[in-house]
Amino acid sequence: MSLMPVQDAITAMLQQVPALIEQQEVSLSQALDRVLATDILSQLQVPAFDNSAMDGFALRFADTQTADILPIAGKALAGHAFEQPIPAGHCVRITTGAVLPEGLDTVVMQEQVEQTEQGIRLTAAIRFGDHVRRAGEDIATGQRVLSKGQRLQTVDLGLLASLGIGRVPVYRRIKAAVFSTGDELIPPGEVLPAGHIYDSNRYVIQAMLQRLDVDVLDLGLLPDEPDTIRQSIATARQQADVLISSAGVSVGEADYTRQLLNELGQINFWKVAMKPGKPFAFGSLGGCYFFGLPGNPVAAVATLDLLVQPVLRQLAGEKPTTSAELTAIATEAMKKSPGRADFQRGFYQQQQGQLQVRPVGRQSSAVLSGVGAANCYIALEAERGPVELGETVTIVPFHSMLR
Ligand code: AMP
Ligand code: MG
Repeated sequence: MSLMPVQDAITAMLQQVPALIEQQEVSLSQALDRVLATDILSQLQVPAFDNSAMDGFALRFADTQTADILPIAGKALAGHAFEQPIPAGHCVRITTGAVLPEGLDTVVMQEQVEQTEQGIRLTAAIRFGDHVRRAGEDIATGQRVLSKGQRLQTVDLGLLASLGIGRVPVYRRIKAAVFSTGDELIPPGEVLPAGHIYDSNRYVIQAMLQRLDVDVLDLGLLPDEPDTIRQSIATARQQADVLISSAGVSVGEADYTRQLLNELGQINFWKVAMKPGKPFAFGSLGGCYFFGLPGNPVAAVATLDLLVQPVLRQLAGEKPTTSAELTAIATEAMKKSPGRADFQRGFYQQQQGQLQVRPVGRQSSAVLSGVGAANCYIALEAERGPVELGETVTIVPFHSMLR
């Protein structure tokens, strides 16, 4: 079996997995991280009215060119407009957010005036229109402020609220069933018999899915026992949109997961040209999509992040986004042989005016500790050979799923 380029694997999966269409309406307090199911158009202009950006005095700029002192006609407070006519040459005391009284055009900060019994005198040069926020200068009525397929972030909720929108249509959450298999695995918290290891994949996989706002159905840690695995696959098919498992998909391995998957669905077993990673399975189990991650912990994390994540986002109704790639100077040499794309775990920082990066921890796909200390992948192209100190490399900063 030949190696499949990373991008080909992602493209093949994206072509098979549809986007959700089921929607629901949620209140703003439930909307964080949900995917919008419609464009949001503003029904208002923002600001809704001309208002003051400062505490100070509202006036007619022209008056400041002719008069030395401007008497104070009254007060305009936020939430309490000053609605009486303002005599020529007068100003109005105003607070931030208050409606700019009819006919006035400029606000002077209170620090820039001297108050006398007769009125105010300017102590600094001002310009026409200073410190006035104009109606509609931020958002016009009918303007699209958020787009269908956008995942709602913290600030988006404030924006929606500022437009008076209290509920939004979103796609339903996707549900992922997760299990680990392997007779060598023991749940954390229990005594570890000789020759066994703790099941770490299930915890990191579930946590990463939570960061992506995926509902997780934990099907536990399964022994290498066909009936138990068959039962769990059946449960996933009934109850989840996707099933994510780790281990047991290596090529040539006499493994029950692999045999059962072939029996129960259409599964492709790929050798993806990436390191860490390589063995990876994808397919469908009658309406439930299956992702079989490698067992090695770093490979499981990297394939979930780099290969599966875009597919889960599409399934959840999210429109495609590109991951931020940066260019940095390698401050250490890196081993690499041409053939597979290598996603080394690195630490990047700005130094002497440039981005620098170095690999951190042991780069073994079994060693999870190095990933925690890293803040990016150092993405070395498949055809690339060893990297010398001082060479330019592409880095991909870790995003929310790995933090
Ligand atoms: P496999 O893909 O089954 O060949 O497993 C590759 C390596 O990953 C082996 O060393 C397994 O013991 C290890 N491994 C498999 N599943 C897990 C898991 N859930 N947590 C930690 N390590 C695992
Ligand atoms: Mg195994």
